[in-house]
Amino acid sequence: MTDAALSPPPARPSAFHELEVLWVHHWTPQLFSFRVARPDDFRFRSGEFVMIGLPGEDGGKPVLRAYSIASPCWDEQLEFLSIAVPDGPLTSRLVNIKPGDSVLMGKKPTGTLVLDALTGGDTLWLIGTGTGLAPWLSVARDPDTYARFGRVIVCHTVRNVADLGYRDFFTSGIHDDPLIGEEAAAPAPSSPTSACPPASRPSATASCCAAQWP
Ligand SMILES: Cc1cc2nc3c(=O)[nH]c(=O)nc-3n(C[C@H](O)[C@H](O)[C@H](O)COP(=O)(O)OP(=O)(O)OC[C@H]3O[C@@H](n4cnc5c(N)ncnc54)[C@H](O)[C@@H]3O)c2cc1C
Repeated sequence: MTDAALSPPPARPSAFHELEVLWVHHWTPQLFSFRVARPDDFRFRSGEFVMIGLPGEDGGKPVLRAYSIASPCWDEQLEFLSIAVPDGPLTSRLVNIKPGDSVLMGKKPTGTLVLDALTGGDTLWLIGTGTGLAPWLSVARDPDTYARFGRVIVCHTVRNVADLGYRDFFTSGIHDDPLIGEEAAAPAPSSPTSACPPASRPSATASCCAAQWP
């Protein structure tokens, strides 16, 4: 018997990164955001998605689902915006993550909601419902977006006003962003919050627009 026959086969590299959770914010009981440390070798284009998951319970297979990356491609942390589906195989557990916990992340980001897929134009409309805002959070925080388009308008439509988790960011926080704050701070055509229904109608369809004009 040769040495090769005696030695164990080389370990296959894992298909997933195991990443530390750095931050969690619950917007509502059904909607939360979290950030993880970004692996040094992880590259993606703003707007792409990646598989996110948790180890299987009782040693079972990991539970993985597609997630849009909500942070821009230059950010040192990776941000995600997640629904919590009651009895959902992943999110009924993911909703309980805390800083210091670990999540699994696939190594191959992909997707077509990226700037490369677009021809140029004056105005870029980024329209999303619910967690469909996630890829636009990434694209709208990427300086390349403002280099390509004269104006960028983000529309977020949700079932409940409380689900407009990023409204404050789009109406004021984005103005402080060191990379895109200047472009995003240009006067909007109308008050961004005027499109949002009053909090006294919490079950109305709500939408919120943040706009950037040249
Ligand atoms: C390309 C892609 C990108 C995605 N990006 C995100 C993201 O950024 N954030 C996110 O929360 N989810 C996203 N999803 C959905 C995500 O993959 C999971 O379905 C979701 O996290 C629920 O997982 P689960 O295992 O708990 O329940 P699942 O068994 O996967 O879903 C149960 C049911 O919940 C409903 N549902 C699932 N996800 C959503 C959702 N996001 N909004 C409303 N209803 C939903 C559907 O009716 C679904 O049949 C994306 C899906 C795709 C295909």
